[in-house]
Amino acid sequence: MALALPVLAIAPHVQAQNLPSLGDTEREELSPVMERKLGEQIMRDIRRDRDYLDDEAVLEYLNNFGATLLAAAPEARGEAGYDYFFFAVRDSMLNAFALPGGFVGVHSGLVLAAQNESELASVVAHEIGHVSQRHIARMLGRQRQDALIPLAAMVLGALAARSSPDAAGALIMGGQGVALQRQLGFSRDAEREADRIGLEILRNAGYDTSGMISFFNRVQNASRAYNDTAPAYLRSHPLTTERMADIEARTRGQRYKQRADGLDFHLVRARLRVLQDLSAQGLREAASAFDSQLQQKTRTQIAAGKYGLAFVAMRQGATAKAKGLLQEAYAAAQGASAPVQTPLLAGLAIDIRLAANEHEEALKEAEAARAKFPLSRSISRQYADALVGSGRVDEAVNFLRDQAQLYREDPKLQDQLARAYAVQGKQALQHLALAESYALNGSLPAALEQLNIARRAPDASFYDQAMIDAREREFKARWLEQVKEGKDR
Ligand SMILES: [Zn+2]
Repeated sequence: MALALPVLAIAPHVQAQNLPSLGDTEREELSPVMERKLGEQIMRDIRRDRDYLDDEAVLEYLNNFGATLLAAAPEARGEAGYDYFFFAVRDSMLNAFALPGGFVGVHSGLVLAAQNESELASVVAHEIGHVSQRHIARMLGRQRQDALIPLAAMVLGALAARSSPDAAGALIMGGQGVALQRQLGFSRDAEREADRIGLEILRNAGYDTSGMISFFNRVQNASRAYNDTAPAYLRSHPLTTERMADIEARTRGQRYKQRADGLDFHLVRARLRVLQDLSAQGLREAASAFDSQLQQKTRTQIAAGKYGLAFVAMRQGATAKAKGLLQEAYAAAQGASAPVQTPLLAGLAIDIRLAANEHEEALKEAEAARAKFPLSRSISRQYADALVGSGRVDEAVNFLRDQAQLYREDPKLQDQLARAYAVQGKQALQHLALAESYALNGSLPAALEQLNIARRAPDASFYDQAMIDAREREFKARWLEQVKEGKDR
């Protein structure tokens, strides 16, 4: 992924520090609080990257999928008990990676290469293993608070280097990035431990444990086709014959509860195929891939192919065609049994109506979808959009305020709220919401600037002013703390 890196000076003491290796009994590791802070710092930069797949439906699928895996092995949350966050980046290279503090990223190429959910699960469960055992924290060792930002830059540099070797020179600063990149390739012991935990998760969650071997084999075969450049996944998780034998020994003769692939897995793959390349040419190529997918005879494959074609048609502005194709996707998915329940199909129906400027119909679809999927955050987001679109802005604001109370860490809800206030013409509240959004994204100076704009707004009430003052005190205190941490070195 092409990561835009801020230019940051590397503190000399980072270089001097010896990164302890795993298994070192005297080791000191990054504390859980520091590890989480480091992960959050890296995530801020990743979220700003144009290759971060900021797609609510994809994020929802990945996080539900990850939650299922975690639920199968509660101890996988590890001693630090992190809240996990799963996300996707736009990159055709087969890769997945764990960041410090419970953030797990998968490349779109990896999801597309997985033929079934068990294969995807095998990679994600392995990454969960690295997080739960705190392998990265152990590699990085104990760091002072002020080393966090340079460390974040180095981890990012190492990630960017993995994905695109050409960019590596520009991104890796001095020899330290290279040293760290080597460190990010996990040790044999770490790999074995992550495999053990990964397999345990697969087994408990009812996924096919042989999915791990078949997928790793395919990744390896793909690497032969590319000659010398091994896929990134194998470079950071070296697949030795010893490791293969170990996995085989652990899975031999094992009976697993067969778990049928969810329709969602195939729909998300179709969605990612489109999102991976939104250029005119990319859309055409995705469409022809879906056309050949329709030759397959399974219901889910056909449903996913039609869904993909409908998504492409909507992106191309052909909303009438998109509606027809989505109906065909529903029909294919329906089969003989119960009607299909998935927020992905319902969500696309809303998006097509919104794209066609059919606001009343969009709202009807969104209300029905919300009744069916009350916990879906992507549907909630669309419901608010549909309310604003059909002129029911007051309802949208009330709804979004409730959502923002529920999900206090979500900057995108604050952005949506700001847009709704703008439609209402409420300037002070609009800039207050924007301030919250910036603060949640970690940009406190920009947040304080928004508070200043809010304070000067002609419609700022006495109550608004009190709120602005309170938020200003809070943001300033946090900002001072950050500046102090930076100066302490
Ligand atoms: Zn690994």
